This record gives sequence, C-alpha cells and structure tokens, in this order.
Amino acid sequence: KRVGYALVGLGNLTLAELLPAFAECKYSKVVALVSGSPDKAKKVAEQYGIAEKNIYNYQNYDSISKNPEIDAVYIVLPNSMHKEYTIRAAKAGKHVLCEKPMANSSAEAQEMIDACKKAGKKLMIAYRIQYEPHNRLAMQWTREKKFGQVKVINSINVQNSGAPPQWRLDKELAGGGSLPDIGLYCSNTNRFLLGEEPHTVLASMYSTPNDPRFKEVEETVMFQMFFPSGAVANNLCSYGVHDSKHYRCYADNGGWFGLDPAFAYHGLKMEVSQTQGDIEMKQNPSKGEKNQFALEIDHFSECVMDNKTPYTPGEEGLQDHKVLEAIYESAKTGKPVKLERIEKLDAFR
Ligand code: NAD
Repeated sequence: KRVGYALVGLGNLTLAELLPAFAECKYSKVVALVSGSPDKAKKVAEQYGIAEKNIYNYQNYDSISKNPEIDAVYIVLPNSMHKEYTIRAAKAGKHVLCEKPMANSSAEAQEMIDACKKAGKKLMIAYRIQYEPHNRLAMQWTREKKFGQVKVINSINVQNSGAPPQWRLDKELAGGGSLPDIGLYCSNTNRFLLGEEPHTVLASMYSTPNDPRFKEVEETVMFQMFFPSGAVANNLCSYGVHDSKHYRCYADNGGWFGLDPAFAYHGLKMEVSQTQGDIEMKQNPSKGEKNQFALEIDHFSECVMDNKTPYTPGEEGLQDHKVLEAIYESAKTGKPVKLERIEKLDAFR
C-alpha cells in the first residue's frame, strides 16, 4: 500500500524535483494535483498518469475531503499560503506535508499545529536535509563526539536571486528575504546537528541600497546562535552573491567535518579533516547519492501508515520561526536576543 498525495502548487520545486522524486518512493504516490492553471495541471496529469478527475483548483480544493484516494497533501506554494492550505487540508480530513519555511510567523505556525491537532491529522515540515544520509552522519558524529565536542559550526547558504517581480522578493508572500528562504537551512541544520536549542542569538543585516531586488526583503543576514552546551554557530545567508552552501563542525579533539555542498539538491559531499600524530588527513567519505526528497516523503508516508510522529513535525517548524523572529529582532536592535527555554525538540534520539 502507498500513501496517496495531492500536490498543491505546480511550480519549480514540484515539477523539477518532487514529481520525479515520487518515482523513487517506496510508500508514496501522487494521486491528485491542485493548481490555479488548468492547462498546466492537465499536461502534468497526463505525463504522470494522474486521473483528470483528480485535478483540483484553489477554489474547489476543500472537496478533496470527498476523495478517499487522497490521504495527504504536500503544500508547495509561496510561504504566505502555507497556513491557509494546511488548515483547509486538515479540515478536509487530510494529513499535511508542508514545505519550508512553515509559514510567515510563529503565530501562523501555531495555528497550523492547532488545526492539525484538532482534526487528528499529522503535520510534517519538509526539512529534507534531516533525511539526507551525509547530513545525518554529520549529526551522528556531532552527537557521539567522534572528534570531541563540536564547539563551533560555521554555516553558509548564499545565492544570487533573480530580478523582480517574483514572490520571493515580495515581503507579504515570502515573509522575508534570504533569512526564511535559505538562512533557515543554516539555523535548522545547526539545531539538528547539535540536538539542542539555542538560548541566545545575535545578528546583523545588510541590503545593497537601490538594488531593486531588496526594496521589501533583506539581502544578507549574519547571525550567531549560542547553545547550552557552549557550542556557537556562526551563519551567513545572502541573496546577493554567487552560490555557496556549506558548513563545517569544528570539534575540540583532533578533527573537523562538514559538507560542501551541504544544502544543495544533489551532489552533496562530505569533508573530514583529522589529525593523527603530526599528520593531517583529509577524506571525503560517501554514502552514495540518495534522493533526499524521496526519503523525506517516504518518511511521512511511514508515519501516516504506522501512526507515528514525524522527525520534523509542525513543532520543529514553529521553533525555527521563533529563532528567525529572534534573529530579526537582534538585527533591528543590534543587541543579543534571548529565546524562551523550551524542551529539547529531538526525535532522533
Ligand atoms: P514557484 O514560484 O516555482 O512555485 C509556486 C507555485 O505557487 C506556482 O505554481 C504558482 O503558480 C503558485 N502560486 C499560487 N498563488 C501564487 C501567488 N499568489 N504568487 C505566486 N505563485 C503562486 O516556487 P517554488 O520554488 O516551487 O517554492 C514553493 C515552496 O517550496 C516555497 O515555500 C519554497 O520555500 C519551497 N521550496 C523548498 C525547497 C526545498 O528544497 N525544500 C526548494 C524550493 C522551494
């Protein structure tokens, strides 16, 4: 048996990554499409063998409630739409896999969690990095203290954003600029690697004056996260420079490790530098290439089938929004911002 999904939104991610990823899934299949563009939806449905009667639009979306083939929806819309389409799906009696960032604020994230809870439906945020084997190995090494305590993480996610108009440069639709879109990979992965929650953040922000891309949203954010173990994560995200997506975890007993690229869709590469006596050895251990999207989707399907809580539930997205809000506040005030103490959100242990 495979869990049946309705894909909501037929943009770049759906067409280029998710639809092909479903072909590599063991427990998941696409049974329906939700789109504002009937011609596109029809073409995609034909290409992927999806019944024409299972094409929905944003108006009749709620009638998925009457379709027993659909167990879950996968929401792949601009960020500001995640809340509405999650809540409508929960009310229609469907489980929800929602793209990152979960929403545009922690308040919205909380509403989504509450709606799914009330409906008795599962909610997972699509943090693909947490399902990818090399990142998981880095998480294991961090937590097992393979090279000692990781005291510093340096994490970078930068890219050159295209010209406006596009929703990612529209504050209302995107919620922010480089921070919620790509800086989120740094903040979420730090939390995942360390298995602990930051108590303080310190940040600053810069946008090139008169660049038409950054009228509404920020270009570059530099932010530090301080963790109870004493670990410090130093992070950079930007929409204004050439692509680079990597991190390194520096441990206190003879080694560092990380990935470069770390946050890309394909071709992730692990790097390890280790000293033995007076020799420094560099290695690139590999677990082979796996489709991260397929692993993530199948994880959610297994949770639906076995009635388990996903590794990255709504609460994980909510916590990231609290961290992002603290980062914005720190950048605005120039002061460190403390986060409220929360229970460790850690499904992997
Ligand atoms: P996209 O612009 O390519 O697609 C967005 C889709 O939403 C389009 O089909 C568009 O027609 C539809 N849409 C409906 N109402 C819209 C509106 N008012 N304005 C603009 N588009 C509207 O975007 P995308 O890159 O596919 O991103 C979609 C979501 O997926 C975002 O939340 C994004 O953060 C997330 N994403 C995640 C990853 C990842 O690696 N996990 C990668 C890319 C995007």
